[in-house]
Amino acid sequence: MENNLTVKKRFFPRKKVCRFCADPSLVIDYKNPELLKQFLNEKGMIIHRRQTGNCAYHQRRLTTAIKRARIMALLPFVADIEIEE
Ligand SMILES: [Zn+2]
Repeated sequence: MENNLTVKKRFFPRKKVCRFCADPSLVIDYKNPELLKQFLNEKGMIIHRRQTGNCAYHQRRLTTAIKRARIMALLPFVADIEIEE
């Protein structure tokens, strides 16, 4: 008997490696908004660790850097704000 219920597992053959662990020359710095922007979505919100593949340590460093960059006005301050339409 054929089973049409195909359970598609979201399996990535390539294991995601933390970019910062893989490349020691990448330094998380709040003064480097170009790098930090890569970890923001179109709304300017920080992309979750599960999507970026960052390790806990570097995601934490990144979050801190992004928050600092926002305060320094290097990044847009749009996250955490509900926009009413
Ligand atoms: Zn890492």
